[in-house]
Amino acid sequence: MAEYNQGQSLRISEEFSNLTLHYGSFHRAILQYIMSIKTVPEAELLQYMQRCLLSTILDSYMDTQDVNMSQFVQETAVALQHFSDESYGELLDKWELEDSLVNADDVHRIIRQINEKLNNLDFQVVRCADQEEADKSVYIFVNKASTASIKLSTSYTEKQIEVINKLIEHMFVDPFDKSTGELTYSISKNAARNIGRDLNMSVYEAEQLLNDLQAKDWIQTYQNSKIMLSARGLMELKPYLANLFEIRSAETPLGAVSVCDGCKEILNRGVACPNADCYVRFHAGCYGLVKSSRTNDHSCSNKECTQVIDDFVVFN
Ligand SMILES: [Zn+2]
Ligand SMILES: [Zn+2]
Repeated sequence: MAEYNQGQSLRISEEFSNLTLHYGSFHRAILQYIMSIKTVPEAELLQYMQRCLLSTILDSYMDTQDVNMSQFVQETAVALQHFSDESYGELLDKWELEDSLVNADDVHRIIRQINEKLNNLDFQVVRCADQEEADKSVYIFVNKASTASIKLSTSYTEKQIEVINKLIEHMFVDPFDKSTGELTYSISKNAARNIGRDLNMSVYEAEQLLNDLQAKDWIQTYQNSKIMLSARGLMELKPYLANLFEIRSAETPLGAVSVCDGCKEILNRGVACPNADCYVRFHAGCYGLVKSSRTNDHSCSNKECTQVIDDFVVFN
């Protein structure tokens, strides 16, 4: 069995290099997938690429005379049709495929190839730290060109945009919770409904708008009570937010928009210096990396701040 399996692995590796050497149908399928769901965790994208690769191989070996390959094709077809993590895992194990399939480095390379194509079109697939889970990454389909108001105005009325702007203002102008003093780039559902009411929107209309913003992946609800910009919302609106509320940094300590001190990407959840006047904040994953890499010096990276990174606090 082992030597047959090696044969399969070899074919799959070859097929894979052929498919991904230049931008082609494989890349188009991946791009379509990312565009349709806007935000995809890296692990999911990896798995999707593996399935795509296996389907392509199925197509090209459908009429194979090789008995072993034909069995492989049949089993793969079944596994892909009744797709579950279990059936897929069994298939990979049985044919010893894990190592010959797409890996994380391949994902980066394929996304780079896709971005080279997208460049002329002002779109980009951006990789950034997952705000939900430390040490994981997500890929987000981002429109680089148009301004925030254009992006929103294609799907929302003037009144709705007025409400959206107020929601964003509430999240960013003073991101410290009035009652607890905690840092949070969110607005409660109640406060969001009140904003709608103040701008002559019925409770029903406000509710519809919030549902729609969530369905389109602009916002997400957190702990079932708070509304925040989603990772994609943050990425898409980054230039708009930076322009309006300014990035918080050593040079601009009054800015309201947080940037991770590790990866320099915008964030609205993570770990913050407990000094309310300090700008240093991290994604949870980036914080872990920085903390473990600093063996001696634990002081906050802000020269003006006397805190140590061990005392940083989670915010969301
Ligand atoms: Zn980061
Ligand atoms: Zn600090």
